[in-house]
Amino acid sequence: MKVESRLLPLQILGKQAANTAYKAKACERMLVLESENGVAQERIRSLMSDMGTESGLWALPSFDDPAKKYFPFVLPLADIDHGLHHCMEETEFAYNHTTWSTYFKQLNGLAKLFARRETVDRFIKFQIWENTRIPGEAKQSLASMFKTTCPSLCPHRWMYEFEVLHWLCERESFFKYLEPNILSGDSDLSQDEGNALKRLIEDPTASARFWGMAWVELQLHRWGFGVYDWAHRCPCHTKAENKLLKPPCPWNGRRLMEISAGKLQACFFLSVHS
Ligand SMILES: [Zn+2]
Repeated sequence: MKVESRLLPLQILGKQAANTAYKAKACERMLVLESENGVAQERIRSLMSDMGTESGLWALPSFDDPAKKYFPFVLPLADIDHGLHHCMEETEFAYNHTTWSTYFKQLNGLAKLFARRETVDRFIKFQIWENTRIPGEAKQSLASMFKTTCPSLCPHRWMYEFEVLHWLCERESFFKYLEPNILSGDSDLSQDEGNALKRLIEDPTASARFWGMAWVELQLHRWGFGVYDWAHRCPCHTKAENKLLKPPCPWNGRRLMEISAGKLQACFFLSVHS
């Protein structure tokens, strides 16, 4: 018996193509040129793609018989980065729309405020150095926690959200000293963000809700980051060994064997640091 493994050049499908129907047609044409009609489709066993329009090819119906699939024996293999991106975006659906939208405006508002060095300096001066409720001996070390400014939030990149949540949650206890005058004269905030932040500062229930959600989101993002970190490392070195390697291990990011053995199932339940 002769087993032959081939990689068909389907990656060019993504180039300047607009939708699944267009890509399906281009894919069909490519396969007809490649071999007799229907032969390649029957023989293809796996289809790797991101989670965009190409992923529709997994479920594409046969042109001759719509009750059947175009690739009847295919195992879809989605790329983990895109899968994780969608997974992290879905946490939003656990909340009602208004709750989430208020939370996100507050998160974005705080990130914008504390991304600016001058606002952070103003906050340290008035809310730490000149704050009589903070013991004098603690002020220096508390002020030093604001040496770095808050990273910016990029709404469609979950990893930026992780960085922002990490920065904010570590400093949560300071934000009880926030006063409405922190909002004055800041032109980066939209009116909506300004109003949402004002509520966060003035209303203890709004503040408790925001921090509750922020900590839950941070935990979920921490999990996501663990999966991301695992997926980008190799099966043959520990994390510590991997950091020291120069050049990097050629097996970085090659996790298919472990995934096919069920590793992702474990990721649902466990932190994946190894
Ligand atoms: Zn390795």
